[in-house]
Amino acid sequence: MNKVEEIYSIMAASYGKQGWWPVYSTAACRSQYGTGAPKNDEDRFEIAIGAILTQNVAWKNVEKGLDALKKNKILTPRKLHKADIELIAFCIRPTGYFNQKTLKIKNFLNWFKDFNYSFEKLKNIKTPVLRESLLGVNGIGPETADSILLYALNRKIFVIDAYTKRIFSRLNLTPHNETYNYYQEFFHKEFNGTVKKYNEYHALIVAHGKDICKNKPLCSECCLNNICSYNYR
Ligand code: SF4
Repeated sequence: MNKVEEIYSIMAASYGKQGWWPVYSTAACRSQYGTGAPKNDEDRFEIAIGAILTQNVAWKNVEKGLDALKKNKILTPRKLHKADIELIAFCIRPTGYFNQKTLKIKNFLNWFKDFNYSFEKLKNIKTPVLRESLLGVNGIGPETADSILLYALNRKIFVIDAYTKRIFSRLNLTPHNETYNYYQEFFHKEFNGTVKKYNEYHALIVAHGKDICKNKPLCSECCLNNICSYNYR
């Protein structure tokens, strides 16, 4: 077992199953984890929109946006594409940068329309080709594209975020300020897991970065303390 695999095992034992991606239930007024999503195209579409909405904002704000989109009955590809910009912006206001995100959603839907809004039509496209195509959408960067690929479309691709860079540089496994592609190639090389494990690993990294390996890390409470030399005091 290499270091990256060992870290996965330690975090999985410490935090337990994460069960991403969460799908939002208006009845329960909260996101539901561990549902096995995506189970259908509804879930896939919600995940793709959630991946855009979560840019630079906490998930609890995304939930409010998804709640409003669902209550206005526009969280389907065709309805959202047809919906007035003002209505979408109003619904997603709690997610911040709502005017920009509205345009990003519309750009994504322009792209999706070329596939007749059909996830089925994306199935036969190879992952690197699909990724390049998604990256061509104005407002969809690597993290969002890879979140859609991994969590909505079950493609084996590692999602990199600021938590990943911070944690793995503190663990002395990567430099702290490299490109997105550098980190992604590192994980693709070092972690030969299944799609499910890629899904869980990123979720574990987020849990760890949010609660323990924060800006000011809580090293004394950290499950990786024994293998990390960062030792913040
Ligand atoms: S020991 Fe500290 S710096 Fe290292 S991973 Fe844990 S919280 Fe982060």
